[in-house]
Amino acid sequence: MSTQLKGSIRLAGVVRESIVDGPGIRFTVFTQGCPHHCPGCHNPQTHDPAGGYDCEMQKILDAVEKNPLLRGITLSGGEPFEQPEQLLELAKAVVAMGKDVVAFSGYTFEQLMEKSKERPAIKELLSLCCMLVDGRFVLAERDLTLRFRGSRNQRLINAAESVKKGEIVLSDL
Ligand code: SF4
Repeated sequence: MSTQLKGSIRLAGVVRESIVDGPGIRFTVFTQGCPHHCPGCHNPQTHDPAGGYDCEMQKILDAVEKNPLLRGITLSGGEPFEQPEQLLELAKAVVAMGKDVVAFSGYTFEQLMEKSKERPAIKELLSLCCMLVDGRFVLAERDLTLRFRGSRNQRLINAAESVKKGEIVLSDL
């Protein structure tokens, strides 16, 4: 029997088949709530943690399971690492299905590792992510030609390998 997830998560929305949020066709979860307030942010409606709606975790997993075309899921926002405990459970279930996990964060990888001292789910979640696009969106460094990224300061990191090695390993996906 497949995994059953309990509880809910605060979401801004989902995109059931995205080709712009990582490799392949992906189910993208946009979490609600973001503390970064980057000037020029494209999703200001995702900033208020009290905005959005509550979505049952199991509902997300069921939708992912139903679509054989999906390569994996992408955790975006908002700031997904503000709700790492719920996303960790989702990521575990998705990896168990043989699919992969990409995450976007306004925090840098180093900041996330620091934060994981208080919230261990952050590091566990990173260790399940084949790719992390890290760092705030910086308007002055915006570049529309970049793959998956909005601004040049952001990196495509192999998060799982970086956690394992204790140093940044860039993604080759
Ligand atoms: S981290 Fe993303 S969602 Fe948050 S303010 Fe920056 S660009 Fe917007």
